[in-house]
Amino acid sequence: MPFAKLGLSSPLVQAITELGYKTPTPIQEQAIPVILSGNDLIATAQTGTGKTAAFVLPLLEQFSNAETLRGKRIRALILVPTRELAVQVEASVAQYAKHTTLTSMAAYGGVDTAPQKERLIEGVDILVATPGRLLDLAHQRALHFDELQVMVLDEADRMVDMGFVDDIHKIIVRLPENRQNLLFTATMTNDVRAIAHAFSDSKMTNLAADIAITPNVRAAATIKQWLITVDKDTKSALLSHLINEQAWDQALIFVEKKHSAAKLVAQLEKRGIAADSIHGGRSQAMREQVLTQFKTGELKYLVATGVAARGLDIGELSRVVNYDLPFQPEEYIHRIGRTGRAGASGEAISLVDISDFKNLCAIERRLKNTIERKEIAGFPVKKAVPASNINHSKKSTR
Ligand code: AMP
Repeated sequence: MPFAKLGLSSPLVQAITELGYKTPTPIQEQAIPVILSGNDLIATAQTGTGKTAAFVLPLLEQFSNAETLRGKRIRALILVPTRELAVQVEASVAQYAKHTTLTSMAAYGGVDTAPQKERLIEGVDILVATPGRLLDLAHQRALHFDELQVMVLDEADRMVDMGFVDDIHKIIVRLPENRQNLLFTATMTNDVRAIAHAFSDSKMTNLAADIAITPNVRAAATIKQWLITVDKDTKSALLSHLINEQAWDQALIFVEKKHSAAKLVAQLEKRGIAADSIHGGRSQAMREQVLTQFKTGELKYLVATGVAARGLDIGELSRVVNYDLPFQPEEYIHRIGRTGRAGASGEAISLVDISDFKNLCAIERRLKNTIERKEIAGFPVKKAVPASNINHSKKSTR
């Protein structure tokens, strides 16, 4: 289906054609008509699915014939968790808006507010902002929301992970009640649902459409996947053993909770393995520092929560470890997709204990394959994980 069929007019179609987009991605096909019709939307879509264009294009379309904006006013607010994402999303907006007269800017912390305030004086159609800086600008009366028509929350799960829930609530109460709400998240968690409810409590008049885009299973043949069954209490010993015994050059190790990240780092360090972590509880500056060390090879073992690692662009990665198995099959696929990129070989290792069994079945069902199991000498399992059954009924696995 061509973009024009989705209801986008020629200045936008021209811009995306120049960028080389030929057909809309699935999220774009589904979300653009919903957004153009003025409905609210909750969409589960990961980075790489084309989600940014899915909300930016219809916004630009909706605003294309709008009246002149008053000073210090905005038509749409796109809230994002990090400075990097603010810059990236705003760059996309500017590219898509190239043949229109619509304006955009990014507002984020860590830099002087003065130039941002200056830019806002004339009003900006689309503002991409991180929560803290946005509240700062609002407190300083550099920005008013009375003309706001659309609020977009991008990467809502990462926002929650980074501790922005209170800020989001403070922002929501400042916005006009009659507005369109769009929420994008890579994973749907209870915390994200709570935010979606907070939107609806503020008199959400339109019915929210719920769209879920799951990436195709593209477990590249170059990624070798295997798992080791283990007891919960020997997991960290097993991981340390693997790192040492198999002389791992590098590993990105996923855990579910931020407190488990710090705990695992301490456990590895006790065994003489230098590791560090990134998770929602660490400052942006700290995360960036740790990530740089990992990228340059100075740090070999990085422990991360899935959400914190999501936005990270780590090029060549030889190994990912699911120290904790993720709850959602899509998250598993996303994680293992971080290795074996561009034809490079990589391996994905999961440590699975009995409590993960239902999860494992769901993942294997999604992969349409069982994952090869390996036994490691010296680590007998007391609580055996049953043999996989990918036909395990859906009802009993979720
Ligand atoms: P996102 O999921 O928004 O981070 O987008 C992932 C990448 O896909 C970006 O580099 C976009 O420029 C690109 N992209 C988005 N939509 C399309 C499309 N319809 N065709 C080709 N590339 C696209």
